[in-house]
Amino acid sequence: MAKKTVRDLNLKDKKVLVRVDFNVPLAKDGSITDDTRIVAALPTIEYVIAQGGKAILFSHLGRIKTEEDKATNSMKPVAERLSQLINKPVKFVGVTRGKALEDAIAEMKSGDVLMFENTRFEDLDGNKESKNNDELGKYWASLGDVFVNDAFGTAHRAHASNVGISANIKEAVAGFLLEKEINFIGGALENPKRPFVAILGGAKVSDKIEVIQNLLKIADKVLIGGGMAFTFLKAQGFEVGKSLVELDKVDLAKELLEQANGKIELGFDVVTGKAFDANTETNVRDFDSIPADEMGLDIGPKTVERFKEIISSAQTVVWNGPQGVFEMEKFENGTKQVALALAEIFPNATTIVGGGDSAAAVAKFDLESKFSHISTGGGASLEYLEGKVLPGIAAVHEA
Ligand code: ADP
Ligand code: MG
Repeated sequence: MAKKTVRDLNLKDKKVLVRVDFNVPLAKDGSITDDTRIVAALPTIEYVIAQGGKAILFSHLGRIKTEEDKATNSMKPVAERLSQLINKPVKFVGVTRGKALEDAIAEMKSGDVLMFENTRFEDLDGNKESKNNDELGKYWASLGDVFVNDAFGTAHRAHASNVGISANIKEAVAGFLLEKEINFIGGALENPKRPFVAILGGAKVSDKIEVIQNLLKIADKVLIGGGMAFTFLKAQGFEVGKSLVELDKVDLAKELLEQANGKIELGFDVVTGKAFDANTETNVRDFDSIPADEMGLDIGPKTVERFKEIISSAQTVVWNGPQGVFEMEKFENGTKQVALALAEIFPNATTIVGGGDSAAAVAKFDLESKFSHISTGGGASLEYLEGKVLPGIAAVHEA
């Protein structure tokens, strides 16, 4: 199922509606603390400009529940940052509809860039954006000739600004960022080069049940570290001390271990602390000797070796979830070693990172350039890995 992309369109002099994910973190004073998401959309924006299109950009930002939320969630500072990044004026129009917006669009010339206000301002009036109000989708679609969806971070939601527009316009295509997410994550799930290894971790099993279930179906090996490993260890009959464990998920973990038929690898040992504290005393413990007053906060050295060995022969790897509390130096080693092992097999193997904290770990170890793909979507990449159809992607027209 190939999707149409921005490359398939003739953009010259066209009014090109571009849905981006500029939901950037803002400081109290309204300044942008991290512009990664803006930078990630630049290839598509630059392409639209270079092809002579008129780029009409829009995104949601934060949540809009009250009139006051509008002041703290305006797209104006985002438009200013974009203008600096592309070194070109970005005309900001502080509304989401009406004559001022329509006139500004009518005045655009080939290569111009315009951004209108936060799409969620429409949520104040009956959640029109978030409930994919039909009239709103049609109205926004009427503002342009073609639609480019580059907002992967919103793809798990059926909103007016992605799904609504797609349903009401002649051409709805993927931008380069959305295309990359589909090619890497979708590609790994649908047609992975094998061996395909999934590495899972993070805090809780309950956050990721469907990810585990889906990847168990597809992957050749599923390595499980991080906090979620202890529910599986408990299911195998080990005592896990004060480690994070979800007692109501132990039966599920048992079932998964049975279904997995040896595919799941938990390793052999953990690094424990006496407390969840950066300065706590640490020990390395085999699974069968975790004392009652210690908690596992990282995978142990024998586990690291086993995971590295499996990773070394992989052709495709999807990694979601840190292997320990990597935010604390004493418990960062497992996550770091896994990241380094993945950096080692790149670019021979395809290596994909999904999940906000996993991406933050890769950044912490300065290994971002050593991965095939680091997903920009938090919730969206999780739902993609769960095997769900993402409405924002489904709505993009087929090639
Ligand atoms: P992602 O955002 O990549 O999907 P998660 O949000 O699921 O990852 O989990 C990340 C968090 O899991 C990190 O903040 C990390 O400190 C925590 N974590 C990892 N291992 C453990 C552990 N053994 N005990 C407690 N927390 C852990
Ligand atoms: Mg997280």
